[in-house]
Amino acid sequence: MLSQLNQSHSKRRAALEMLKKNDRCRDEILSQFTLLTSQLLGIPSCFVSILDDERQYIKAAQAFTLVETSIQEAFCRYTVQCEQLLVCPDTWHDPRFDQHPLTRGAPFIRFYAGAPLISGEDYVIGTLCVTDTQPHAFTVEQQATLTTLARLTAAFLDAWYANGYVDTITGLPNRQRLLRDLELSSDALPPQQWRLLMIDCIDTQHIFEVARSLGMAASERLLRELTQVLHQRLNSGKAPMLYMINHGRFALLLHSDDELDGKLCSDRLRGINARLSDTITIDLHIRVGEVLFSPQTLAPLEAIRRALSALHEAFVLQSPFQLFDSESDHKRNQEFQRLNDLARAVRGRYGLYLVYQPKVCLHTGKTVGLEALLRWNHPVEGEIPPGRFIPLAAGTSLMAELTDWVLDRAIKQLQRWAAKGIHLPVSVNVSVSDICRPGFADRQESRLLRCGLTPEYLGIECLETEEIHASPDALYGFDMLKLRGFKISLDDFGSGYSNISYLRRIPIDVIKLDRSLISRLQHDTASGIIVRNVISMLKDLDYVVLAEGVEDKATYDRLQELGCDEVQGFYCAAPLKAAALERWLRQ
Ligand code: C2E
Ligand code: MG
Ligand code: MG
Repeated sequence: MLSQLNQSHSKRRAALEMLKKNDRCRDEILSQFTLLTSQLLGIPSCFVSILDDERQYIKAAQAFTLVETSIQEAFCRYTVQCEQLLVCPDTWHDPRFDQHPLTRGAPFIRFYAGAPLISGEDYVIGTLCVTDTQPHAFTVEQQATLTTLARLTAAFLDAWYANGYVDTITGLPNRQRLLRDLELSSDALPPQQWRLLMIDCIDTQHIFEVARSLGMAASERLLRELTQVLHQRLNSGKAPMLYMINHGRFALLLHSDDELDGKLCSDRLRGINARLSDTITIDLHIRVGEVLFSPQTLAPLEAIRRALSALHEAFVLQSPFQLFDSESDHKRNQEFQRLNDLARAVRGRYGLYLVYQPKVCLHTGKTVGLEALLRWNHPVEGEIPPGRFIPLAAGTSLMAELTDWVLDRAIKQLQRWAAKGIHLPVSVNVSVSDICRPGFADRQESRLLRCGLTPEYLGIECLETEEIHASPDALYGFDMLKLRGFKISLDDFGSGYSNISYLRRIPIDVIKLDRSLISRLQHDTASGIIVRNVISMLKDLDYVVLAEGVEDKATYDRLQELGCDEVQGFYCAAPLKAAALERWLRQ
């Protein structure tokens, strides 16, 4: 087999896969090479062929009508085997060819001279050869000419192959090549269905980490090893067309009737680990997204987008494999659209508004503060709750803009209320990323001072996350808020991540017990015991304790008994617009 003869490696195979495909521009130039060869040597038939383990493909030819043969039938396999010029002046007198079907039948080859096409990486990809129906002598000059022309042809193919279509690290065809192949696939006759698989093997971050600590060579070796493993595991007889899309992300283009599909691919890629260094390996959680499509009806870029969408869905659902699903794709697109709409709403100042929910003191029954909650009236979708748009903004630059918008509105409202003699502090929800912003506390202080207010009027509510404890910027941000006199509340305590031993590192004034703890208080004894002990512990630690989501009198009374300080919830008042809140306060 050729692979054994040439110690085939993945680069040769990747090159062959690409060369086998039809490419009109490339093949026209190859055709020019064959014309030149035939003219210079004075021999009518000439062709360029590419050979893999099973077949020979004639890519361009002069006076030679065969387009493909089995490897057994190919004269050229002898040229590839010996990796040098092979001349057979008369096939009838050569035991290898005298009974050969191409000698005794069409195209009745009597004379053959072939030169191997050796790539710059020293592997043989095919041949440039001349044939005739007559025996010939082949002079030393002619031999030299054919060898030179074969070198030129190979150099051209190398250049074509490397011209932006190859990932230089792994030798795999790259994203541009995938696009090109998708374009070409629409020409296939009869029209076919294809599968495009996106395979995410390793986080780009990991690759960068390896490069940063062990150097580029190590990260490149990792990618090459990964490519080899993929080839081994995915090889199903026919070599699949594997592309490198991004560092660590691959694509596979398959006929729809290929035995290999996304599910099988994902099954075969289980349990792979990557060697980061001599002593460290990591388990790879490979994810596969797949789209089935016919290139006649779907543009290449859209096919890629859909495969990526399926891959993204696999990440979101933490599943190893996802087939493209237009419904979830539509949902994600909608979310993205919503994020764009949100940006427009924040910048254009329409659709967003604040509502205020009172906080009531359980010791005095008086309203002691308000929480500002964001609302969005979307022009098409109507009212969208914050839980459906704030998570979209989190992690984007929009989060800071949104918080600034809320702070600006809340401070202006505080100013208006102060003018009316209403002096209630308002707390605003912010994210950890806001607190990490340099000068955040100072800016809020000057904003308030400009409006004739002091920081005690503005409260800051934030969720406790691992991120806070891991981030010196966040801890510093909290200290600065405290120093400037802002009251800090820890939101949703008991709902998810709570690390009581670390809590003391943040200068918190108020702890807000999450609704999930409070809502079960009346119905379930265990919750009662938990809430009682949590309140008692937090009181011992000198926190003000506020219970969120109080919806009925029984819960209100029970919390009063348990020594909770403040409550917030529909039982007292739902979040209200400023004017409605003023009316509520007057009652
Ligand atoms: P949160 O800060 O814990 O706000 C309390 C949520 O509970 C609010 O939901 C409020 O309307 C709701 N709520 C209050 N009392 C009751 C009750 O008795 N029963 C029930 N079932 N619910 C009650 P909302 O307004 O939908 O806000 C959800 C979350 O969105 C907030 O939780 C907060 O984390 C976030 N959020 C709201 N506005 C903003 C904002 O301006 N900036 C940021 N970063 N987050 C905000
Ligand atoms: Mg809150
Ligand atoms: Mg809360």
